[in-house]
Amino acid sequence: MSQSLLYHAFGIRKGYEYVRTVYGDGCISFVLVARQELLVCPRCHSAEVSRKGRRFRQLQTVPIGFKRVWLVTEVPLCKCLACGQSFEVAPLLPQRMFLTRIGSKPLSRVCGGG
Ligand SMILES: [Zn+2]
Repeated sequence: MSQSLLYHAFGIRKGYEYVRTVYGDGCISFVLVARQELLVCPRCHSAEVSRKGRRFRQLQTVPIGFKRVWLVTEVPLCKCLACGQSFEVAPLLPQRMFLTRIGSKPLSRVCGGG
């Protein structure tokens, strides 16, 4: 799966980088991580931020054949080095997607139980 296809087919916006595909039982997950360019302080707009951790959000998108397709997007937890603000960088959701929080569940289990 190419990154450009992901952008066009599933509405992935720029700033996210495709890293891998996880094949589960009856579903496919595309894993995306946030690029450094997305990490900007919402309070002072400084790009001098450091990552403090991350979680993942799982978005169901259009199926491929009979497979359910999920986009697993990284939500970095950051702290601004300029003003001290802590914040998350959450992806904007393309329309008509369903959002499920998966917390810190290992990625290999995203598709489990299907
Ligand atoms: Zn700041």
